[in-house]
Amino acid sequence: MRTPIIGGNWKMHTRLEEAVQLAGEVRRLTEQVRDVETVLFPPFPFLTEVARKLAGSRVQLGAQHCHAQEKGAFTGAVSAGMLASVGCSHVLVGHSERRHVFGDDDTVVNAGLHAVMAAGMTPVFCIGETQSERRSGATSARISEQLTRGLLGVDGDQMSAMVLAYEPVWAIGTGDTATPGQAQDVHAFIREWLDHQYGESVANVVRIQYGGSVKADNVDALMGCRDIDGALVGGASLKPESFVRIVKFDS
Ligand code: PEP
Repeated sequence: MRTPIIGGNWKMHTRLEEAVQLAGEVRRLTEQVRDVETVLFPPFPFLTEVARKLAGSRVQLGAQHCHAQEKGAFTGAVSAGMLASVGCSHVLVGHSERRHVFGDDDTVVNAGLHAVMAAGMTPVFCIGETQSERRSGATSARISEQLTRGLLGVDGDQMSAMVLAYEPVWAIGTGDTATPGQAQDVHAFIREWLDHQYGESVANVVRIQYGGSVKADNVDALMGCRDIDGALVGGASLKPESFVRIVKFDS
């Protein structure tokens, strides 16, 4: 039995006051939720205040990215150890905006994954194909390439503890969500890949989130799919009512 996990990625939105208020509302409105893990991913400057707001609750704190090096002359970068020290339990690794806007390649992503695990946190490892890759029938090839390169050096125990997020690039922030069938097909492919590489016992426990225009009105159908274990939510995580409705999905 895989515990569903719902993440709210606030990206480069909110100001401090809004961030704290949003965290407080999510905390309040999910107080009775026992069987779903909820993780908020605020921008770096608000992590400490949001951590304070969430202290003692079941809502967990995550960061949107980290640098692979632990310390040194890396102006503007934030290390995994720093994030752990302010209370983060999760870090997004390889989000498509990091890959496509900032040019993080699979080697950078793999180093980030190892840094997050070395700091004792859970990576949420994001993968997904572009629109042109999908149109040309290259979805499976791209996904297996991202898995092979991104997971280099990851053993079975580490894999079991990790969260994967399948986020088709064409569905992120576009309102053009994958159909439950399209998402399930790729999730099943990922689980088969895990089975092949790590064995059935690992493949059965890894949680795979879907991300890409998840909203209150499409989450139930997505979460009803056999291999979809959660959602990574961008836009709809900025409003407490819509995000909490997603956390309280009905499938
Ligand atoms: C995301 O940021 O990971 C995401 C899926 O965004 P949105 O829900 O806005 O598509």
